[in-house]
Amino acid sequence: MNYRDTLEFANDLDAQDELKTFRSEFLFPQHDGKDAIYLCGNSLGLQPKSVQQYVQAQLSNWQEHGVEGWFNSEEPWLQYHEQLKTPLAALLGAKREEVTVMNSLTVNLHLLLVSFYKPTDKKYKILMEGGAFPSDQYAIESQVKFHGFDPKDAIIEVFPREGEYTLRTEDILSAIENNSDQLALVMFSGLNYYTGQVFDMKAITEAAHRAGAWCGFDLAHAAGNVPMKLHEWNADFACWCSYKYMNSGPGGISGIFVHEKHFENKELKRFAGWWGYGVGKRFLMTSGFVPAQGAEGWQVSTSPVLLMAVHKAALDIFEKVGGLDKLRKKSLLLTGFLEYHIQFINQKHGEELFKIITPKDPGWRGCQLSIICKRHGKATFDYLSKHGVIGDWREPDVIRLSPIPLYNTFKDVYSASKLLDESLSTVG
Ligand SMILES: *Cc1c(COP(=O)(O)O)cnc(C)c1O
Repeated sequence: MNYRDTLEFANDLDAQDELKTFRSEFLFPQHDGKDAIYLCGNSLGLQPKSVQQYVQAQLSNWQEHGVEGWFNSEEPWLQYHEQLKTPLAALLGAKREEVTVMNSLTVNLHLLLVSFYKPTDKKYKILMEGGAFPSDQYAIESQVKFHGFDPKDAIIEVFPREGEYTLRTEDILSAIENNSDQLALVMFSGLNYYTGQVFDMKAITEAAHRAGAWCGFDLAHAAGNVPMKLHEWNADFACWCSYKYMNSGPGGISGIFVHEKHFENKELKRFAGWWGYGVGKRFLMTSGFVPAQGAEGWQVSTSPVLLMAVHKAALDIFEKVGGLDKLRKKSLLLTGFLEYHIQFINQKHGEELFKIITPKDPGWRGCQLSIICKRHGKATFDYLSKHGVIGDWREPDVIRLSPIPLYNTFKDVYSASKLLDESLSTVG
């Protein structure tokens, strides 16, 4: 696309946008009596207007049925999560039985590591991306210690080359191969939260398996953002949160994926609870845990119905759009438009004042661009905030901006870019 730097051009793109009506399904924080320019869906997606009604329906169920709501209401809570599987499976490229919702993300990562990190004296190492999300680093570190290993020895982090910001797939693959004797697990994010880089999940999974290791992904920043094929790629397990690109509310319910090839594996250890027991026999309350078939067998605790109702409201919008591919198509244009403006500003000033560290190739990024501010980063960010742009600041000098195809416009991107340009002559 040959972009142009005018409001008229942005308005034209908005007029042609097939998904433009979806913006009105979301609630926007207000700034000076107008919708803020919200470019922070990578951190917390906006609230769908329908959430109130979905939650109210379950509050009414509770009111009218009390405990019977589990079995006898219009949408019995015992099966409520079933409704979430089809839309989730579509977003993750999984089979219905391979996904379920439960707990929150880091908790699920731990639960899955109980099953899929099985270190032996010889093969005990975990290979992960350097600069992973802190919660993942802490989870992995504590798991390794739990099994009696020293994190310094047992965790291998792969970092970008000197002077580079993102990882090269070839470097990830050779690190896996070079450590194959000792690797138990390869654990990566699908999309790095800091740089916005999408990893080659298919190639990483294949390399892990060649090395005789299992492979899992934290998809917090990938789910609802970029299309994936977890089943086909043969990933062993994955987990994600629902409150970023899936717009399902702060601390919203998390999801897990377990590949169907593991369903019959009786060797897999797990931390069990009654919600993972087959639903048909759950209430017989007999001793001896028999896991439910599929990802559900990893459930532990009574499912949080109100969180699932929020999640359903949000996933129903994805279904209404008619597939992630449509969102992806707009997302590529929208993020490309932001990239164009930033390059335009740099050219205008004859200097790379804003350095984009997210991959240039749209195939290896999602909505987000991570931008290093060469000068006065925090003041620049504060200038944006003061003028109604909600983005996200990462010390020491990075601004992350994520135009979301469900609810952002090309005009949002245009306006934010103008403010970024203006900030240069104002701050500092
Ligand atoms: C957002 C995010 C988390 C947050 O985990 P919670 O358990 O929901 O607090 C963890 N890991 C990654 C990669 C994230 O992006």
